[in-house]
Amino acid sequence: MTHVAEPPAAAEARTGERVNHWINGQRVPGTSGRSGPVYNPATGEIAREVDFASVEEVNAAVAAAKAAFPAWRATSISKRTEILFRIRNLVEVHRKEIAAHLTAEHGKVPSDAQGEVARGLENLEFATGIPHLLKGGFSEQVSTGIDVYQIRQPLGVVAGITPFNFPAMVPMWMFGNAIACGNTFILKPSEKDPSASVYMAELLKEAGLPDGVFNVVHGDKVAVDRILEHPDIAAVSFVGSTPIARYIYEAGTKAGKRVQALGGAKNHMVVLPDADIGMAADAAVSAAYGSAGERCMAISVVVAVGDVADPLVAAIKERLPRIKVGPGSDTTAEMGPLITREHRDKVATYLESGPAQGADLVVDGRQHPLFADGKGFFLGVSLLDRVTPEMDCYRNEIFGPVLEVMRVPTYADAMRVIDENPYANGTAIFTRDGGAARQFQFDVNVGMVGINVPIPVPVAYYSFGGWKASLFGDLHMYGPEGVQFYTRAKVVTSRWPDPSTSKVDLGFPRTR
Ligand code: NAD
Repeated sequence: MTHVAEPPAAAEARTGERVNHWINGQRVPGTSGRSGPVYNPATGEIAREVDFASVEEVNAAVAAAKAAFPAWRATSISKRTEILFRIRNLVEVHRKEIAAHLTAEHGKVPSDAQGEVARGLENLEFATGIPHLLKGGFSEQVSTGIDVYQIRQPLGVVAGITPFNFPAMVPMWMFGNAIACGNTFILKPSEKDPSASVYMAELLKEAGLPDGVFNVVHGDKVAVDRILEHPDIAAVSFVGSTPIARYIYEAGTKAGKRVQALGGAKNHMVVLPDADIGMAADAAVSAAYGSAGERCMAISVVVAVGDVADPLVAAIKERLPRIKVGPGSDTTAEMGPLITREHRDKVATYLESGPAQGADLVVDGRQHPLFADGKGFFLGVSLLDRVTPEMDCYRNEIFGPVLEVMRVPTYADAMRVIDENPYANGTAIFTRDGGAARQFQFDVNVGMVGINVPIPVPVAYYSFGGWKASLFGDLHMYGPEGVQFYTRAKVVTSRWPDPSTSKVDLGFPRTR
């Protein structure tokens, strides 16, 4: 198959086409009789349908992956690396087409969609370093004539279950490392924006990846539950909301699988009184409203310490009218719609409950004309001030363009707020005091920390993961911990035969 560069509007051109599974190197139309709608969130219309897999269809994908595994794990590291380089190059060449799928089905504006592809690409670049990453250890002469060495081997068939908000990047967090390590892979992408996953599957095939090494099954709980119980799947990587992450972790580990399950978030940005107000306001606005707040690393709560609150809220408020909300087809739009009408309306309920419970609604996104026009799933940017921990808007992950401000008297109070929150994905501190920043980094019980950086998503050669209810499992995702997750260690103790030293000895083997 040859991919020619399609215009960025490629996704729209395919409107109406059904999204099929990808099994054993080809598109496989669903036979379950079940499907789901895929919306264009900017118009509110159903753009296409996606097949929902039955147990038998998941079984077929796992069978293909299982059959492909022996040859793939026996493929030399240099050959696997060569294919990884080609995958990386094809994704790079087709970044705009992948981004067009994201804009068409997720709704994020093109600049944001291309940013997503770029961050995914980093993970494929990391995976091209697999010869270095799979090096084991060797200890010579641990006893006379005896060497010990450790090798890391792939697990077999592994699966990834991914969320709607990063339909290209999160799969790339997983499959690059997984296949580079010699595993074969089953992807169950979000049913809300599934097209990018099949488009990437085509690129992987074009790069020379053998059939069956990468498979995609679409669907809902039926497909997920089959993945969780299938005896031939060795490990499951999950990214999504906390209740489902907990369920995946419990069900997967009960079935004997290795599981890493990343959950939801409520990310706090602490602003100390000495911070540069303009810089903090720019960062809070960018991190709260980018991708319409549908990022697990979005800043959802600014914790304003001491007398910084009034000027900070004023500076944030002053920036909001300039944010251009609109469809991705409008090249000047900075923020697109939300994923579904139900989600948009749920987000809007916090603009009702927040003030009813005592918060100040400083900016109301429901005033935006695109909210009222009712076609796409738009909501303007919103700002809630004087939020307190008991309020529903604080206790829930809103996952929309709503920024909350909490006012606290001291740094210690800010730390208590963060500590008492069940989530611990990302956090940030804004200050000019290096000592305070270092203390924050030391104290805070959160997995990813930014110092004057609002969205501290680690680069691909570190690993990504929150703490507490933001991650179930032991290993973080991608980077070095991803390689660890997708391999298991084997330790070999070896001696070459030397009949002159051979004798019967029933004692426990000693090294001295
Ligand atoms: P979700 O939990 O609803 O869905 C994630 C995946 O699970 C999808 O593939 C979906 O089909 C499947 N799923 C949904 N309900 C299921 C059920 N009852 N049983 C089995 N499978 C089910 O999450 P979402 O709405 O797609 O994504 C948004 C959430 O993901 C937010 O909570 C966000 O914070 C979180 N997220 C976290 C990270 C992270 O790295 N921690 C990254 C991105 C998104």
